[in-house]
Amino acid sequence: MEKTLNIKYQPERTCVACRKKGKKTDFIRVVKTPTGEFIIDKTGKAEGRGAYICCNKDCIAKLKKTRQLNRAFKCEVQNSVYDAVEEAFVDKQEQN
Ligand SMILES: [Zn+2]
Repeated sequence: MEKTLNIKYQPERTCVACRKKGKKTDFIRVVKTPTGEFIIDKTGKAEGRGAYICCNKDCIAKLKKTRQLNRAFKCEVQNSVYDAVEEAFVDKQEQN
């Protein structure tokens, strides 16, 4: 079992929807800031607890359907946050 105390040590990123590991750049990062707000961290430098989602349609859909962010952050995550993840995904697709 992973110890939650070690959240600062993240050698690999794991998608919260499919559990696949990968490079930081392959993911969309959602951060819960120290003030309790959820943001999409596009720089990868935001402070706070983060969750990662692969940049693929299936994971984005699954994330929303199963409300995986609630589980990842152990609290209620508003729909607007899920919408923001979807938007970030669309943006990222357009960049490529
Ligand atoms: Zn995934």
